[in-house]
Amino acid sequence: MAETSETLLLRAPLSGVLLPLAAVPDPVFAEGLFGDGVAIDPLGDTVVAPCDGVVLHLAATGHALTLQAPCGAQVLLHVGIDTVSLRGQGFAPCVAQGAAVRQGDALIRFDAERVARQARSLVTVMAVANGNAFAVAARTDAAVAESGRTVVLQVRATDAAGAAQAPAPAPQVESTHSADAAPLRRTVTLACAGGLHARPAARARAAMQGLEATVTLHYGGRQASLASLVALLALAADEGAAVELAASGRDAGAALDAVARELQRTDAGEEHAVFPVSAAPAPAAAGGELPPGCIAGVSAAPGIAIGPLHWWRDAAPEPDEAGRGADAERAALQAALAAVDARLVRDSAAASARRAHAEAGIFAMHRALLQDPALLAAAETLIDTGKSAGFAWRDATRAEAAALSAMADRRAADRAADLIDLGKRVLRALARTGGGEGDAPADARVPVAQDGQPVVLAADEFTPSDLSGLDRTRVAALVMVRGGPTAHAAIMARQLGIPCLVALGSALERLPDATPVIADADHARLHASPDQHLLAAAASTITLRAQQHQADLRAAHAPASTRDGVHIEVAANIGSVDDARAAVAQGADAIGLLRTELLFLHGDAAPAAADHTARCQAIADALEGRSAIVRTLDIGGDKDAAWLRLPAEDNPALGLRGVRLAQVCPQLLDDQLRGLLAVRASAPLRILLPMVSEPGELLHWRARIRALAAEIRADAGIEVGVMIEVPAAALLADQLAEHADFFSIGTNDLTQYTLAMDRCQPELAARMDALHPAVLRMIAATCEGAARHGRRVGVCGALAGDALAVPVLLGLGVTELSVDAALVPATKARVRTLAHADCRQRAPELLRLASAAAVRDACRRYWPA
Ligand code: PEP
Ligand code: MG
Repeated sequence: MAETSETLLLRAPLSGVLLPLAAVPDPVFAEGLFGDGVAIDPLGDTVVAPCDGVVLHLAATGHALTLQAPCGAQVLLHVGIDTVSLRGQGFAPCVAQGAAVRQGDALIRFDAERVARQARSLVTVMAVANGNAFAVAARTDAAVAESGRTVVLQVRATDAAGAAQAPAPAPQVESTHSADAAPLRRTVTLACAGGLHARPAARARAAMQGLEATVTLHYGGRQASLASLVALLALAADEGAAVELAASGRDAGAALDAVARELQRTDAGEEHAVFPVSAAPAPAAAGGELPPGCIAGVSAAPGIAIGPLHWWRDAAPEPDEAGRGADAERAALQAALAAVDARLVRDSAAASARRAHAEAGIFAMHRALLQDPALLAAAETLIDTGKSAGFAWRDATRAEAAALSAMADRRAADRAADLIDLGKRVLRALARTGGGEGDAPADARVPVAQDGQPVVLAADEFTPSDLSGLDRTRVAALVMVRGGPTAHAAIMARQLGIPCLVALGSALERLPDATPVIADADHARLHASPDQHLLAAAASTITLRAQQHQADLRAAHAPASTRDGVHIEVAANIGSVDDARAAVAQGADAIGLLRTELLFLHGDAAPAAADHTARCQAIADALEGRSAIVRTLDIGGDKDAAWLRLPAEDNPALGLRGVRLAQVCPQLLDDQLRGLLAVRASAPLRILLPMVSEPGELLHWRARIRALAAEIRADAGIEVGVMIEVPAAALLADQLAEHADFFSIGTNDLTQYTLAMDRCQPELAARMDALHPAVLRMIAATCEGAARHGRRVGVCGALAGDALAVPVLLGLGVTELSVDAALVPATKARVRTLAHADCRQRAPELLRLASAAAVRDACRRYWPA
């Protein structure tokens, strides 16, 4: 590689082993979201300037720096993965922001041993940050680089250089606009992470629904109508880009407002940030040499599997070129599009029902592409020239996909794969008379190997429609030649729980069908035709894991104590008699939460006291002597009972939920309490009050329970506890603890109310992480308040079943974990691996971290699951 007036050479900023970005164990870098470049597994401890330049930006934490070369190229240097969380510890910058440096000058020194111990990885990234103006033109094929000497990248200005200048801001617009007036214009800065990719584009389109206006986006000398998702993506407008909007039509002003709002919305939580990937660095580069038959890739879903390789044959039929007349072909295309749309609606609904929100989002985005007017117009033009619907649709999708693939932007390339996928779906639908089911389920195209063993399914790159409906029992693992850990198929593999390896490259392509393989996604390797020794080792790992599960199950009937002897009750959450039986079978010590509203949601009348007694008695009888915490009806919010007719609320989650319902239906709770007090159980039943926010409420219900018990001559000494799920309750825990017998923390709602994120809002689902330090502070306050009065604290929200969270909860003072019955064995096993004193010592440190991600990272380091 030689430097010319048009190119810039970047030399290695560190000595070390060179890796492709795809091998970086962080999807944000691996997907090139910070730009194209290279990664280095460092052998040294000093980052030097890869070229002459000026330090444009130096992170306050000293772990990253951006250098601007004289030609304008901006070079990002980022030491290690997630090193921002080290808050500067272990890093010593050698330059200041604004300093001019020469190639080879020291920029950052770091304590390699310390950083390696505390961060996820030391792998260091060098990337071209202004990829809209500069691109990597060539890269070395050397495996190892010498600091300051090896030329690793050649960078060249693209045509778009200089084109990304922000246009001058347009004047303020009015709210109404006559149809024939000049378009209204406004410049907005794209705030959505990752720029104008599919979801913000689709959201902007959706925001205009019902408005009479047309909006065009102008960026980098190109323009795109908001009506065409494909054209919008082709703009390749990055986060932070200044995009000009032009709107005309009667509602032009409102349309400008709506679109601008969407484009200026940040959308942390998109798929690249949502799915933490446990990808190990590609061992080829990291270790230098791989044993024969071993192919390095990137792990996209963990696990290990053995099986015969089976190549996925793209089942899209070859369409006839000639049509049977434009009208017939147009009708056939419309029918096929409608059938595929119906199938996508079903796939999306099924994914939502499994709470697989990202997967549902993929199908929703495919629906938007399916309705793209530019695609349809291109296909119809071809039909008008005599082509068949299938031929026209395939050509239209291929042309758009080719345009997207040609772009440097990796996200655009991902959307190209989506278009090809849609092309296949529609071709399959066309091939079936009348459109039928849209397309055949994927599993129909997966043969079972002769001996009945599930296969390791291979493809160049799977698409979501390939995987929708995949029969988990016939596929042991998924392996791909290309793809990235955040590609949609990878996301789906994780949700299906199938081990998945991506980016295995041409070495995978050379393997024929039926090759015996080991797909080891835990170590990012595929072993082809493994020898007996490797096979035996993999088989024993698989067996060990299955045995571990069986062992957890066997030990689940014994109490669980930490290594230093602290007993933790592991209970189950239930909502029916069947759940109660499952809890007993899985070894639950008790019932930590009976959601009584689930017993009555579908009735046609409010339950009477006798109904409560009958249902709870049946559950108590099924528990074989175990105690149970029975929560009073928690109707409202997202749980609606058909028989309860209440006026609609604007914010039901903030409205008449839990015990607050008694304000308008006092009889309802009185009947339940009478019914519960009448149950005769062989072990204690305890009453739990949901949505309490101050001590007065608790005192009121305690008094009411005493009065009702006296009325029916029942035990007035029944224990009464409070759900801690409203921040007010957590903050007043010391006062509540004076009058409560116990606390049960509902982390699902506590997270919703602490983070102000609706627990039913799919776009926020990924950010609703109960390990957020603010939620942990609420839990800590609850435990402190309880301790002052010697009260027990349990957790019955989903956090209790999260293996990473268990040591944190124990460390903050929780002594009871109530989880779904199926999680009882693994939760008990997890408790037994921990030392309580160690949890107590380390958990408080986590409250000082700044994000749930930082907490999760720290948990992984302190208490690997
Ligand atoms: C919670 O909020 O954490 C909880 C356990 O209650 P629910 O999920 O039923 O609201
Ligand atoms: Mg709740």
